[in-house]
Amino acid sequence: MKTKPYRAWQAKAACKGPQSLVFFPPPQFERKDDRLIREQRAKAICDGCSVQQDCLAHALQVKEQHGIWGGLNEKERRATPA
Ligand code: SF4
Repeated sequence: MKTKPYRAWQAKAACKGPQSLVFFPPPQFERKDDRLIREQRAKAICDGCSVQQDCLAHALQVKEQHGIWGGLNEKERRATPA
């Protein structure tokens, strides 16, 4: 099984632990209002994260398809130049 390479900045990620659940949609249907609240909670954690720029640069580079990375959701990342 192939694993993703570890990046040094990930050790300083503010989203490690149980709060990581708010960074990705749940497996079941999620209402728009619930998604907005979840994403706001995730983005607030990103705002206080010391590696936000590294995280966003990584997400843009590898074109992460899902979740909040570097304070942006997938739609916002698609509108951001790498
Ligand atoms: S910027 Fe957000 S998603 Fe990226 S490591 Fe920090 S808390 Fe996690």
